[in-house]
Parts: sequence; C-alpha cells; structure tokens
Amino acid sequence: MSATSAMIRILPAQLANQIAAGEVVERPASVVKELVENSLDSGASQIDIEIDKGGHKRICIRDNGGGIEKDQLALALSRHATSKISSLDDLEHIHSLGFRGEALASISSVARLTLTSKPKSQQQAWQAHAQGRDMEVQLNPVAHPDGTCVEVIDLFFNTPARRKFLRAEKTEFNHIDEIIRRISLSRFDVSFSLKHNGKLLRKYPALTQQTDHLKRLGAICNKDFANTAIALDSHYQDMTLSGWIAPPDVAHQQSDVQYFYVNGRMMRDKLINHAIRQAFEGVIHPDSSPNYVLYLNITHNEVDVNVHPAKHEVRFHQARLVHDFIFRAIADGIHQYFSDAPSQAGP
Ligand code: ADP
Ligand code: MG
Repeated sequence: MSATSAMIRILPAQLANQIAAGEVVERPASVVKELVENSLDSGASQIDIEIDKGGHKRICIRDNGGGIEKDQLALALSRHATSKISSLDDLEHIHSLGFRGEALASISSVARLTLTSKPKSQQQAWQAHAQGRDMEVQLNPVAHPDGTCVEVIDLFFNTPARRKFLRAEKTEFNHIDEIIRRISLSRFDVSFSLKHNGKLLRKYPALTQQTDHLKRLGAICNKDFANTAIALDSHYQDMTLSGWIAPPDVAHQQSDVQYFYVNGRMMRDKLINHAIRQAFEGVIHPDSSPNYVLYLNITHNEVDVNVHPAKHEVRFHQARLVHDFIFRAIADGIHQYFSDAPSQAGP
C-alpha cells in the first residue's frame, strides 16, 4: 500500500447494485427464491415457474397477485425501493418475506430483466425492461392477465467472474427444485408449478383443507414420511410449534427431509438444530439424521430477520426460551408416540 491519500468516490448505481447482487444473487436458485417470495408477498394464490437450461438461460415467474402500478414499475427496479416497510419501527414487525428492496435492483444489474404487471385496477398491463442498469426504464403496453411476470434472461451475462461459478444445468436445476420444495411446504394454500426446458416437472395444487396437507407432504418429502409422521402442535406463551416429525424407530430417515420455518420463512439455524438433535438424542442412531417439517410461529417482535441479506438466519430475543420450547415440544411428541404404541420398543 502506498502512503499517498486515496480518492474517495461514490460508486455508480450499477456497480453498487452488482456488489449488492453478490450477496443476494449467488446462483439461479437464489433468483427464483427472491422472485417467488415477491409473488407470495403480493398475495398470489398461483405461482408458475419456468426454467430454461438450469436457469442460466431463462427464469420466468408468473403470479396472479396484486401487481405493480404502471408508475411504480421503474421504482420497483431501483435499489432500496420497497412497498413493505417505511420506518425502523416496521422493521421490528415484519410480516412480509421481503423488505430490503434489493432483489429486483440486484437481479437486473446482473441479467436482462423484464417486469410485466397488471394490477386489477388497471385496464392495461405494462412492461419494463432493465438490462444491467438502474435508471431510464422504458415502459411498453402489453397484453397480460392480472398479476405479475418477471423474466430473467442470461444471468451474469455482464459479470463473467460470477458466470464461471455456475454449475452444470442439472445441478443448478436441482437447487431450484429444492427451493420450490421448501417454499411449497411453507404455503399449502398456494398452487405452484415448475417447468424445466418446457417440461412440467412439479405441480403442487393449492390445498385449503388442513387434512389434505399430507398429500403435498408426501409429494415433496416422501410417501413413507407422510404416512408415518407424528403430528405436533404445541403452544407456550406466544409460541406455537406445529408440523411433523418422523417416528424415531422407523428406518427410512432421509438426510434431506429437514425443513424448519420461523414465521413462514425457511431457516437453517444452529440453535434450532441443537434443540432438535437434543430431542432425538438417545432415540435415533447417532449417525442418522432426524426428519422433520416444522413450523415455529412466534410474535414478530421477538425475532430479528434482518441478520443476513438472503435472510437464512434469524436472531431470537429470548434464544434460550425458544430453544427449550422446541426441545420440549419434540421430546413430548416422541414420548407420546412411544406411550401410544406400547408394543413398540421404546427408549
Ligand atoms: P422487497 O421484496 O424487499 O420489497 P424487491 O426488490 O424484491 O424488494 O421488490 C421491490 C418492490 O417491487 C416490492 O416491494 C413490491 O412492491 C414490488 N414487487 C416485486 N415483485 C412483485 C410481484 N411479483 N407482485 C407485486 N409487486 C411486486
Ligand atoms: Mg423481494
């Protein structure tokens, strides 16, 4: 480093967005996650996803949600533009999946993005194109039903360093498939479909009856899990833990049936993992992994979701209490299972 003073300058908007994109847009699956979350936040009941060539070539997400008004389209594509929060106080009570106002700006800085939308109140649908830039968005009238469609073409076309990290089409598609599984398990009331290279691979119809949830569970996890799962529904103070765990004495535990949601958001969290492991300790083989699909609901101001740009992590204000509640709810479910089935060898 030389001792001369360096010139400080404000980065151009596109470069700033590309840097931010590094945190939010890791691969095609992260684009899919952000866009599907936007569709859910818009109140959509149907979300159709089309992928070409593992998402390298094209990602298209269409929803029937509330839409974006014509004069808001350009704004939706700019950085730090969001309709979901407006004050620090709102940040304490986040009910939406998004709130950072970064996804569309980030994605459009590293791909060719087309945003088409028609709110119910508008006669005409409008389309905005953004290609690696932040401003001067051009609007054109188009034909489109109520809702929004976001198309992302040639991901990382202008950032060769990132493009190099894209894996084979199949690998990238598998990541997308997994994201759709996770999200589909978080909203049984929404219908999802997923096409790859023109072929319909997944179709999860909306299920309004809770008794039907096992159908989607069977389609996404596996039939054995859905047929044998122990249902949980525990409450303590303002917390609820519901969902399913695989009985500890069945042999078909799969390493990938591990889904945990906090207020509807899929999480991978050390504290949660620890509580689950501890509850299964001594009842499953130490080398096998517990299988679960669990939903923790907790008062919104008891958790901070603004820890990581991709929102994989949360922070609980009362971590110990949450940990012990999860542990107890699962341990009780396991205990109940063994006492309901006295013929089975219990711990
Ligand atoms: P965030 O989701 O954090 O608000 P985004 O960049 O993902 O930020 O989206 C910016 C804004 O664009 C959102 O706040 C929302 O108002 C609007 N928007 C994005 N996608 C959709 C959609 N599918 N339907 C309706 N509005 C949308
Ligand atoms: Mg968003």
